[in-house]
Formats: sequence, C-alpha cells, structure tokens
Amino acid sequence: MESGHNRAARMLTRRGLLQKMLVVGAGSGLACTLGLLEMLSGCAGGDKPMAAPPRPRMRPTPTLPPRSHEARFYSHLDGGSIQCGVCWRRCVVPPGRLGFCLNKKNVDGTYYSLVYDRPAALQVDAIEKEPAFHMLPGATIFCTGTASCNNRCKFCQNWELSQYPRGQVHNLDRSVDEIVALAQEAGCDAVSFTYNEPTVFYEFMYDIAARAKEAGLWALFHTNGSMNREPMLALLEVMDAVTVDLKAFTEEFYRRVSSSSLEPVLRTLETVRGAGKHLEIVNLIIPTLNDDPDDIRRMCAWIKASLGDDVPLHFTRFFPAYKLQRLPPTPVETLEAAAAAADAEGLQYVYIGNVPGHQRNSSFCPCCGQTLISRVHFAMLDLKLDHGRCPACGHKIPGIWWD
Ligand code: SF4
Repeated sequence: MESGHNRAARMLTRRGLLQKMLVVGAGSGLACTLGLLEMLSGCAGGDKPMAAPPRPRMRPTPTLPPRSHEARFYSHLDGGSIQCGVCWRRCVVPPGRLGFCLNKKNVDGTYYSLVYDRPAALQVDAIEKEPAFHMLPGATIFCTGTASCNNRCKFCQNWELSQYPRGQVHNLDRSVDEIVALAQEAGCDAVSFTYNEPTVFYEFMYDIAARAKEAGLWALFHTNGSMNREPMLALLEVMDAVTVDLKAFTEEFYRRVSSSSLEPVLRTLETVRGAGKHLEIVNLIIPTLNDDPDDIRRMCAWIKASLGDDVPLHFTRFFPAYKLQRLPPTPVETLEAAAAAADAEGLQYVYIGNVPGHQRNSSFCPCCGQTLISRVHFAMLDLKLDHGRCPACGHKIPGIWWD
C-alpha cells in the first residue's frame, strides 16, 4: 500500500487531472454525466451537491418507468398489498400505490424500485466531506444520490433532492456498470452514497457497491440510520464504512423536526459496530432544537457505553436551510462546549465540522497529543500516521488507512 506522503503528492496530480476533465468533459459528455465536479471545494453549508432545479409539482407517474427494478426485503400481504422491510417505517403498500419514500411502487403485488439506474446526483468529492476522517485520508470518492428520502427533516441541506419525488427532479440514466466505470475513469478510490438517504435506493446502492468492490474500489455510505437490521447486515457485506447521522438524542426532536424516530438509529449504530465495519457519527447541532447540554452529554455517554470510546464523533455547525431559515448558525462556542462534554465523557476522537480552520478539524493522538492528520475544513494537508499508528507513541488509531 502506498504511503500517505506519496498519496498526498498523487492527490495534487489528480486534482489537476479532474479540473482538466471538467473542462474537456463539457464537450465529450463526461461533464454531463457527472452532473458536476466540485472536488475539494467544500462549502460551509455542508455536503450539498449541485442538483438540477426542481420541476413544477406533478403527480407520480402512474406506470413503471423504464428499467424499474424489483425491490428487495418485502413481503406479500392479503389483497395484493406488500410490506416493505427496508426501513423502520415498514410501509404497507396496496396495489398501485407508493411507499412513504415515494421511490417504490406496488405493481400488481410486485414491489419495484423506481430509481434504479436513475441517479439525480453524481459527483466527485473528498472523502472528508462525508465526513469520514478515519478512512483513507485525502481519498476521492464518487458519490451517487437519487431523489427523495424517508425522513422529512426541516433543516435538510440537500432538500432540492431529498424532499422531492423522482418525477420532480432531473434524473440521469446511468447503469450500475456505467457508474463504476465513471468512478474508475475519474480516478476515484471509492464509491459513496450520500446527498439523499441511500436507504431509499437500497437496491441501486447495493449493486453499485458490489460491482465497485469487484473492481477493486472501496465503498461507504452516509445514512440517517433508519435501515432495518436484515438489509443493513446484507449491505455491510459490500461496504467498508458507514457514516451515521445521530441528529439528536430525544424522540421528540426526531418526531417534531425530522418526522422520524431515534430508536431505529440507535439500533443501526449497534448493528454497524457489531458487524465490525468502520463507523463515524455526525451530530448537527441546531440552536434551540438539539443543543441542550444534558442531552448532548447523555448522547456521548450512550456512545461510549454502547459503541465504545473510539468511534469518531463529528459535531457540525448548522446553517439556515430549507424550513429552518429563521434560526441562526450554531455559535462556535456551542460546538466547542459539546466537544468538551464528549471529551469529559471519555470519547477519544471528537471533531468540529463546518467551521473551516478550527483546530478540531484535525486529528490528534489521544495518548500523547501528537497531530496525526492536519486538515482545514475538508482538505487534508498533512498525514503523519505510521501504518495506522501514532508516529510519536505508537498508539493504534482506529480506521482504514493507506498503509
Ligand atoms: S424504504 Fe421506503 S417504502 Fe420501504 S419502508 Fe422505508 S419509506 Fe417505506
């Protein structure tokens, strides 16, 4: 495996290549395929991809679109209804109707994914933007997203994609093999699934990840943690890492702000950890809604007791978005207080995100304090790990490393 320093040098070369591709690709069709190339240009608003503007509202198409794909993890009920088992909602869907996420349809007792081969966002990003800070620092990832979501978060940064059904966003027509080939063509190290909730394009995600693994790429995804255990365990067989949003530590927040539930997320975190896959957690702190210090402390204590003290935890800064325009950005002091609470509970790898240049963008050895990975926002500047260990004291750092 190449060293981190060689890797960083190669990254610079690749950045130039990708910028060149963006210009050249405009005439070749590549840029159209990618939708955009925003690599390493992270913005303070989070991992927001560029997406086509939403079209005017319209009813879901009454018939199956081309290349619809039979869904997985559903069961047949009386009267031609089905029950979807992919996420905690376990939708019961009569014939001719859609599931809650609007991405799946019951057609005469067979359940179909309507977004298979129909990505709405394809983009090359830095792996740090997931965020995944303990996985292949400086890697580039080829990200796929589709329309819709199974949550209704009022603060969603990607609402143009996630809060519209398939028929109201611009969809591309790209197969599993084409997406993996594009990832390779762009020189990416991994495929990733993000922007909207990957649970709602489970079948497409699974097949891309499986194909990418066959091609020698890594695979990861960023999820709201709503997937049920059985499909999650199947998916983890073709995934290397997962970033999970733990949006708050109260059922009330999940119900009022996300139209969702906390309990399935906690079970998902335990499932991922139990499966031995690399896990990172993101907690977006929103002023007045989930910034209660006691709740944050309880959350950190639960993470340590249930998952361990070495799971990277990212406290990220909220910026006004979607239906929460009236709230201010999270004060940096609030994020720092949350990080201090996590430290006090004994968590070893605590980061502050969406605050470019903050010291807690970087990684430090929990034993001796040595700087291990220097970052500014999503850009990795320096990598000092030695075969996954602190070069000063030898402490083993959890994660997936280059050497
Ligand atoms: S994945 Fe979609 S259809 Fe299936 S249970 Fe979840 S919301 Fe319902």
